[in-house]
Amino acid sequence: MVMKKNGAAANASAGESSEARRRRARRVSRILRRTYHMGTALKFRNPFELLVATILSAQATDEAVNEVTPRLFARYPNAAALAGAGPAEVEAIVHKTGFFRQKTRSIMNCARALAERHGGRVPESMDDLTALPGVGRKTANLVRACAMGRPGLIVDTHFKRVAGRLDLTAESDPDKIEADVAALLPEEEWTDFSNALIWHGRRCCSARGPNCPGCPVLRDCPYGQTATAEGV
Ligand code: SF4
Repeated sequence: MVMKKNGAAANASAGESSEARRRRARRVSRILRRTYHMGTALKFRNPFELLVATILSAQATDEAVNEVTPRLFARYPNAAALAGAGPAEVEAIVHKTGFFRQKTRSIMNCARALAERHGGRVPESMDDLTALPGVGRKTANLVRACAMGRPGLIVDTHFKRVAGRLDLTAESDPDKIEADVAALLPEEEWTDFSNALIWHGRRCCSARGPNCPGCPVLRDCPYGQTATAEGV
């Protein structure tokens, strides 16, 4: 079988009915949620902190973000404080997360919009969140899901890769992946499934090479089935 570039197994589940795919997705979700009952690796105490930490996490490890945010939030504990900060000082604090000038601009613009449009509070609606500068659906879903208790599918790079290998979607656009997976799983599983899938992508189904023989969902993974059969 041909492995597609995005990691999905071409034709792996050809002929699978939508009902069978839904059942398979539910099994995968159940096993992964049992295996990894952990939330986001980003440290935060409120929606504002998670929003800022998520913007900083672009192309950075969560560890790097967690190293800089305690100092950042001690100095600027809310949107008004961050909006009024001196950029040079913020740049120095977030330097370690990379792209520090651009990220400083992003978090300060976002803080300014929060202060001006929402009295400093992080809004709950998807429309209001995605209208903030630098905030897309992934960030909005992460904040809603992990800091507000709202169901959300967090389609980051790990989610995208692992969902593709599991053949839960054939899409590469994050919004379409979100829609595909949303149709397979009940809302109440979305947040825990997202976090579990992301941890699974970090610990087992990595970009460099998945550990299929040791994977708890191998039985339900077309990519893994083929890879182990072919000794890939
Ligand atoms: S079987 Fe392999 S490809 Fe499939 S989810 Fe597990 S580690 Fe990833």
